[in-house]
Amino acid sequence: MFDELNDLYQQVILDHCKQPRNFHEMPAASCSAQGHNPLCGDQLKLFLALDGDKIRDISFIGSGCCISKASASLLTEFAKGKNKADVEQMFGRVHEMVTTGKVLGDVGKLAVFAGVHKYPARVKCAILSWHAVMAALKGDAKPVTTESEQN
Ligand code: ZN
Repeated sequence: MFDELNDLYQQVILDHCKQPRNFHEMPAASCSAQGHNPLCGDQLKLFLALDGDKIRDISFIGSGCCISKASASLLTEFAKGKNKADVEQMFGRVHEMVTTGKVLGDVGKLAVFAGVHKYPARVKCAILSWHAVMAALKGDAKPVTTESEQN
């Protein structure tokens, strides 16, 4: 799929895939959530350390394809130090971007996933970690699976 993506975007995704940021367990996490994308085999677990509404620290572990790992890695980079509301807003933007290709507002580095909408099988890989972080913030203990919703 990478042939069609912008070279710079491709490099960022490959970099985060090979060397995921914040890739470790967090024993003292305030909350965590698991995500599973059975279509591709992506599995991940996110850990959050909250300070009120603020995400003081965030990390993840798991295995999966390059898109799912890079997405989780970039998510943790974005979310660290942000408020719950910031993450909810960005979830909306990322979801729109990976499903329709429309970029609403500033998505920063997450723009690397703008081309994913052209590859429907990859949309779930890109959005998996975002569903997991939303579940963690809502305190939803059930593992998230991409098969439970449309995208
Ligand atoms: Zn995948």
